[in-house]
Parts: sequence; C-alpha cells; structure tokens
Amino acid sequence: MLDLLSYDFMQRALVAAVLVGLVAPLVGIFLIQRRLSLIGDGMGHVALAGVAIGLFTSTSPVWAALVLAVAAAVIIELIRAGGRTSGDVALALIFYGGIALGVVIIAKAPGGTPANLTAYLFGAITTVRPDDLWVFAALALVVLLGTSLLRPRLFAVANDEEYARASGMPVLPLNITVGVLTAVTVVVSMRIVGLLLISALMIVPNAAAQLFARSFASAMRWASLIGLVAAVGGVVVSYEADTPSGGTIVLLAIGLFLLVAAGVSLRSRVLSRVHAAVRRHPHEHGLDCGHPAVAHGDHVDYLHDGHRHAPHEEHYDEHDERTHEHEHDGDRPGEPAPQGRGGRP
Ligand SMILES: [Zn+2]
Ligand SMILES: [Zn+2]
Ligand SMILES: [Zn+2]
Ligand SMILES: [Zn+2]
Repeated sequence: MLDLLSYDFMQRALVAAVLVGLVAPLVGIFLIQRRLSLIGDGMGHVALAGVAIGLFTSTSPVWAALVLAVAAAVIIELIRAGGRTSGDVALALIFYGGIALGVVIIAKAPGGTPANLTAYLFGAITTVRPDDLWVFAALALVVLLGTSLLRPRLFAVANDEEYARASGMPVLPLNITVGVLTAVTVVVSMRIVGLLLISALMIVPNAAAQLFARSFASAMRWASLIGLVAAVGGVVVSYEADTPSGGTIVLLAIGLFLLVAAGVSLRSRVLSRVHAAVRRHPHEHGLDCGHPAVAHGDHVDYLHDGHRHAPHEEHYDEHDERTHEHEHDGDRPGEPAPQGRGGRP
C-alpha cells in the first residue's frame, strides 16, 4: 500500500486527486442549485478542443484548455442571459462543436494517439506532469477562495435570480464567476478525472451530502469531504487494479452516494420506530374526557397537562412537533434537505 507513494507519478496523481476532490464539489453545489448540473460536462467538451490545439501546436494542453473553457464559460452565460429560446441550440452547437473539433485535431496532432485521447477523456494517473501540479494548485486555490469569499452572493443569485436582481446584486457578473470557476475546475480535473467525467465529480458528492446535511454550508463541507475520499480512493484503486482513474473515481463517488442514501433511509426508519410511550396512564382519553383533542397528521392528540398524548395500541404515546416530523421523514426517506429548507448560506 505504502509502496505506491515511492513512485513520483503516484505522488503527483495523489496531490492532483486531493485538489480535484476538494474543489470540484464546491463549484458543483452552485450548478445544482441553478439546475445547471450538466454545464460542467459541456465545458469539458469545449476544453477538449483546447487540449487538441495545445497538442497540435506543441504548446501546453493545460493552458490551451483553460483559455478555451473560460471563454466558453463567459459565452455560455451571455447566451443564457439573453434568454432566447435559440439559446439551447447555441449551447449544443458550442459543446458538440468543441468535442468534435477536439477529436479531429488530436488525430492530426504530432503527439496525438488514440491512447492519449482516452487519457484526456477518462483520466489516467500517469499523466500528471510536475509543472501541471503548480498550475493545478494555483487554480484550485482560485476556486477555493472564489467559492468561500463569494459564497453568500453566489448562493443568493443561484437560489433566486429574480430576487437577487431586484435587490440590486450584479447577477450577470456573479453568474459569469460561477461559469469561470466551473471552467477552472474542469481544467484542474482533466488529468486524473478526464473531461467527459469531471461533471460527475462536481455533482455526485453534492447529491450525497444533500441527503443528510442540515444547511447549505454544511452540505458544502460534506460534499467536499466525499469528493476528497472518492478522488484519492479512486486514484489508489486505479493503481492497484490498473483501471482508468476517472471512471474509478466516479464509480467510487456513486458507491458513496448509494451508501449514504441507504444509511439515511435506515436511520429515518429506525427513528420512526422509536417513540416515547407514556409509562403509567390510568386516565382514558375520549370524546368528552375533558382534554382538548387536536388533529396531528393522521391521528388525534389529547392535550394533557401541557403534553400531547396520542392513543397507540394499549398505551398512549408522548407526541410533539419533533415526533411528528420523524414519522413523516420515515414515509419519504431521502428527501434532499438544503434547498427545500431555504436556509441561509
Ligand atoms: Zn383525557
Ligand atoms: Zn400526534
Ligand atoms: Zn394523557
Ligand atoms: Zn406507542
């Protein structure tokens, strides 16, 4: 296990995995909130054209991908802000044009082979170069600072664009910021996750965290942790099992999501079974026992000296708002928490 750390390429792959795992979900949460989960996928398509141009001109594929992805991000936001129905078609042209151009140019590039095309699309642990790491670290820092410093504003705009505009927030610049941070994340991820799979690492850890997190901020932290575990775990498994790292990382992330979903549903089932029965209760509540009866969900509670008692089999249950909530949580496990509660950032 530790011997993998003795290889330089593995050290670099693991550092890249830590960077990607931490920052990809931080951007993804705003994309989910804006219902743009697949936009990262589109930027990955465009970045491939950048990679291809980099290979063709023998310049750095990373920088060329960054330039193209950032340009695409800005154009995408401008098209979306235009709000025309033809906007969808324009986005499709950009995304598919990007990947088509990428595939064709890579085939004609001096160093372009089917093998390195696959590595760019699906990730490979052996491809992180020493000079990539510095660029990735700097870009990851940009994403980290951007999402944490601007979090309240980005949250407000992503949550309710109309309201944010009405209250005088610079909506378009903030949306462009999310787009550019997405583009930057795509580029940081291209080596080990791959351009076709990076979107999954932005979205899946958030989907898992939102099953149990109680606030937007905690969902963000948990998603980042889940992303980190999936990315680092995926790189290790990829080395041991000789599989493409991007596919391995994403499968691991989906596995974590299923694990969390199962845990959450188990927990709410247990909670709904646990209930507080009143120990001794000589009095029998009824229509005219003198205690006010109040409707509580699908049954009736009796107000008894400041408590709420509900008849249940041979005894009375102690009820309050919380028991009620638990029972209903049990009915529909896995309801995502953060957006629905409209919490503060
Ligand atoms: Zn009574
Ligand atoms: Zn009740
Ligand atoms: Zn009672
Ligand atoms: Zn009971």
